[in-house]
Amino acid sequence: MATLTFTRDDRYNAFITMLDNAETGPGKLSGIGIAIKDNISTRGIQTTCASRILEGYLPPYDAHVVTLVKKAGAGIVGKTNMDEFGMGTTTENSAFGPTKNPADTSRVPGGSSGGSAAAVASGMVRMALGTDTGGSIRCPAAFCGIVGHKPTYGRVSRYGLVAYANSLEQIGPMARTVSDISLLMEVLTGYDPRDSTSVNCPYAHIPDPDIRGLKIGVPEEYFGEGVDPRVASVVWDGISLLERKGADIITCRMPSMAYALAAYYVTCTSEASSNLARFDGVRYGPPADTRQTWHESFQERRRDGFGTEVKRRIMLGTFALSSGYYGKYYAKAQAARQQVRNDFLRLFREVDVIAGPTMPTVAFRIGEKTDPLSMYLSDILTVPANLAGIPAISVPCGTSEGLPVGLQIMGPHFRDERVIDVAYAFEQGVSR
Ligand code: GLN
Repeated sequence: MATLTFTRDDRYNAFITMLDNAETGPGKLSGIGIAIKDNISTRGIQTTCASRILEGYLPPYDAHVVTLVKKAGAGIVGKTNMDEFGMGTTTENSAFGPTKNPADTSRVPGGSSGGSAAAVASGMVRMALGTDTGGSIRCPAAFCGIVGHKPTYGRVSRYGLVAYANSLEQIGPMARTVSDISLLMEVLTGYDPRDSTSVNCPYAHIPDPDIRGLKIGVPEEYFGEGVDPRVASVVWDGISLLERKGADIITCRMPSMAYALAAYYVTCTSEASSNLARFDGVRYGPPADTRQTWHESFQERRRDGFGTEVKRRIMLGTFALSSGYYGKYYAKAQAARQQVRNDFLRLFREVDVIAGPTMPTVAFRIGEKTDPLSMYLSDILTVPANLAGIPAISVPCGTSEGLPVGLQIMGPHFRDERVIDVAYAFEQGVSR
């Protein structure tokens, strides 16, 4: 056992809870400090999901991934800031104040795993765990200039993750290098009987930068409307680098992109409206006032405990699922989701991976985006991978206006190794 020392979080508000010391032991992650997103349960350590409703909550058990990183010898440094319950793209929807982007502190770090990204980008920790429901690992990785990987759905156990939208989300690694992503994947993957969607597919791989002959599909839609041309040009330069390393670049189409965002927002709000019903002041949340009726206390706890965006999504989801509307919204969203999946399956018969920008723009200024719809639109390039359940990584790809840009690589189900190899080849190419 060794005790790690680490710098305090006085500049970025990256942490909601920071521990006094981090104990590391022997193993693959020996001597490494790791930050854990605050929607991942840590036994005896406050886990708030950045919500007032869970302030002071001490989980009685560790999430499976927390058990795994501890077993591998990592030292837990603290719990990172995020958008409340994962609902957001900037980490501004936190009850504990926004996180600042280390690349430019007047800007957001992206979200919802913004605290994890800022903690890694600023060097406070070497690695972090994030969660990605619709881009929450890749977006902050892109905005802060680090690497973030969303594993194939089922490859990493969700046991102990506070659910936002179960069918879409995965826990995944965030780090400054692709090798560290790969190392953390070795630790995080594997079968867990406590997660009914867990798949026995351990990752044991050393990144290989040889991409000669690899076919990379580039969907036109990833460079379409709403994508900042300056970001698009930086990403095209990145794709040309992969071509110089021997890959074949093939432009393609993903027609289902027209429905992906709508399918995502109907699905995630529907799942959220059901998942968040448990926060009622009985089991979770500040204790109910016993003089009140159950209805009064339920109303009051939820009115005071949830932030605006969370309430908006509960209402949207409850509406989408309400009787008479189910076929009109939820069922349609599932049909659109199937089309997204089919588009990917079709493309992966012709290409090995798909590449494009991670985000349509660089990081916004804190407070710049106030309209929820325009915020949702910025998720357009990340949600397709969640709808389909495929692996997707964001790797730093230069800058636009001095701010980091991310290159996104997506691959077929259970081919996390392949997208990590391409990201590794890219990282090697950039640093030469
Ligand atoms: N920005 C998306 C949302 O708000 C994605 C969030 C996430 O991946 N947790 O739903």
